[in-house]
Amino acid sequence: MDEFTFINSIKQNYYRQSTLIKGIGDDAAVFRQVSNDIVTAVDTFVENIHFTRETMSAFSIGYRVLAANISDMAAMGAKPTFYLVSVVIPQHWKIEEVQEIFRGMSYLSRKYKMDLIGGDTVSGKELSISISVIGYVKKGKARYRSLSKPGDIVFVTGTLGDSQAGLYILMNNGKYKNEEYFINRHQKPSPRIDFVQNLSHLDRLALNDVSDGIVSEAAEIANESQVNIILKSENIPTSKYFDQFPIQLQNKWKFSGGEDFEIFGTVAVDDWNDVKRTAYHSKVPVTKIGYVDTHEKQGKVFLKKDNKIKQISKQGYIHLK
Ligand code: ADP
Ligand code: MG
Repeated sequence: MDEFTFINSIKQNYYRQSTLIKGIGDDAAVFRQVSNDIVTAVDTFVENIHFTRETMSAFSIGYRVLAANISDMAAMGAKPTFYLVSVVIPQHWKIEEVQEIFRGMSYLSRKYKMDLIGGDTVSGKELSISISVIGYVKKGKARYRSLSKPGDIVFVTGTLGDSQAGLYILMNNGKYKNEEYFINRHQKPSPRIDFVQNLSHLDRLALNDVSDGIVSEAAEIANESQVNIILKSENIPTSKYFDQFPIQLQNKWKFSGGEDFEIFGTVAVDDWNDVKRTAYHSKVPVTKIGYVDTHEKQGKVFLKKDNKIKQISKQGYIHLK
């Protein structure tokens, strides 16, 4: 298959976004925006580093890489609108399989009315997919990591550690309870766009998506906002049957496992009821998992367990005070 035929095969028949002026087919895409701030991010995924064929179908590779990008938009408070895909295709990948990767992306993009508006296609040694995503946020309403304040409530959506549990099931033979649920959480994560969009009326939110684990996300917010964050070990939400895995793995996964693509954030105490109500209406569980220290401002993260507080490093190591 030549490049032209390939590009034609992945091109949408029609575009969903009214702000798009020119999609695939020229030297570059064009869209027009007058009322929103434009948010953009790029992520690159390389075979055998970020994913393997053993644990991911071609369809789920596409789904999963776009989901990770969409999750970045959620963490900024943005609504995803467009994406561009640069793909390096090696000899040992059949073109039909690459098309299946694009079908995985296309499937997820439909849910958010996103349009594929461009990209690049080249051959090379390893399969590599680089996705650029563009989204809109109301002027001045981007949810920066630097917006956390002393006294805020710390919360997270969904349950943590499921994605790593799913990967563990895929890599280890054995029978596990709720296998399908965990595998699905690994291969087809749900970015929390609707939940964050439904909070757009709130003045201030500091958000991060859970890509590296909550300790790391907390550390980034603590650092950018120059606050101290205290996480309560007992309150970290995990799913039913998470306790079937070895306890050391449970701890590793829920604190620094990552790739759950849930939303971690801090919000003013006065707005917490609003967050809970919105979560309920968005059908997304939300849990209070800690608080921002009212006095100290140092950019550190602490773990509170059995009423003892210990500092925890970004990598998840506990420092003894
Ligand atoms: P150019 O030579 O100007 O870079 P290309 O032949 O690479 O153009 O691409 C032609 C059109 O197809 C462009 O609009 C480009 O954005 C689009 N395109 C190429 N590869 C991809 C891809 N992998 N995904 C989406 N669009 C693509
Ligand atoms: Mg090109």
